[in-house]
Amino acid sequence: MASNPVEPAVERAPAHVRAIAPYSGGKPISEVAREYGLDESRIVKLASNENPLGMPESAKRAMLAAAADLGRYPDGNGFELKDALSRRLGVPQDWLTLGNGSNDVLELVAHALLQPGASAVYSQYSFAVYALATQATGARAIVVPAREHGHDLKAMRAAIADDTRIVFVANPNNPTGTFLPAAEIDAFLASVPPQVVVVLDEAYNEYLEPALRADAIAWVKRFPNLVLSRTFSKAYGLAGLRVGYSVAQPGITDLMNRVRQPFNVNSIAQAAAVAALADTEFLERSRRVNAEGLATLEKAFDALGLPYVKSYGNFVLVKVGDAAGLNQTLLRAGVIVRPVANYGLPEWLRISVGLPEENAAFLAALRAALGRT
Ligand SMILES: *Cc1c(COP(=O)(O)O)cnc(C)c1O
Repeated sequence: MASNPVEPAVERAPAHVRAIAPYSGGKPISEVAREYGLDESRIVKLASNENPLGMPESAKRAMLAAAADLGRYPDGNGFELKDALSRRLGVPQDWLTLGNGSNDVLELVAHALLQPGASAVYSQYSFAVYALATQATGARAIVVPAREHGHDLKAMRAAIADDTRIVFVANPNNPTGTFLPAAEIDAFLASVPPQVVVVLDEAYNEYLEPALRADAIAWVKRFPNLVLSRTFSKAYGLAGLRVGYSVAQPGITDLMNRVRQPFNVNSIAQAAAVAALADTEFLERSRRVNAEGLATLEKAFDALGLPYVKSYGNFVLVKVGDAAGLNQTLLRAGVIVRPVANYGLPEWLRISVGLPEENAAFLAALRAALGRT
């Protein structure tokens, strides 16, 4: 909790900055080991939607090679990574923006377009960064009630005000795992006024079954007010390196570039992302491990009679009742999951899908905690 600001410099900070509730992430393994007197190697972390396979070997090799030249600044335009993305996605390089994680990309859009007197629309139970990025600019947040834990696009369209500059949409959404079919997004994009930018955050896109994956690039070509955001943190296994990107037409891409730090993606991250993008075998394995793990978790929740939200990501939201209490019990057993009370979901926990043995360890600890062994 923030203490009462007493220093004059702190007191004079903008009220909208002082009102921000700092992001609270998954507890690091080292912290839980210290706090609970546990051996780090026996702790299972299923709290931050990281790829349980770790990073691809191909990316590790590229990263080590890039480490030989760290005396120099990175390529501030990220030519090689943009070149690879441009070929893969079929868009010109000047439609691409690289970010220090896609979190950076979301902030670039916010900083480029929002200011006091403007507003951004996003859904209840959507990714915490939309609120943070909006609040940091002094813009007003319009939070639209969720429908069945997911985005209510009709209500979000209706909530757009005269001062609205951005609508954030996550598909699939985090922390709920809900999914919007292509036809719904298509109709939504066609209905949003052209002066309002839609940020379509597809951080979990690569986990979708091919049949569910929309042609989002075709949307970017059709809608000059669309920013598509993707990341290397999830299915590509590079969360620690911080690389993401956006695809948007040159007008908005140019605005984002104006507020971007000149060297926002470091050289190691750029090299690793180029390698990971080419590593289709790793991506396939990530998908398979995730689909199997998700099925295991859902089956176990069914057997325990625990309600959950059907997930299209690499995590699942499960209703456990006293989530804070259960979370403490799980931590003592060396299992880190994510309480989501800060999202307004105090009875739920979000569980990232792990390796088979990690999922089994979590389920064993869960059954023990519930007295269902
Ligand atoms: C994890 C996540 C991101 C990506 O974060 P990075 O900054 O790229 O690591 C973006 N959006 C959503 C909805 C996420 O869950």
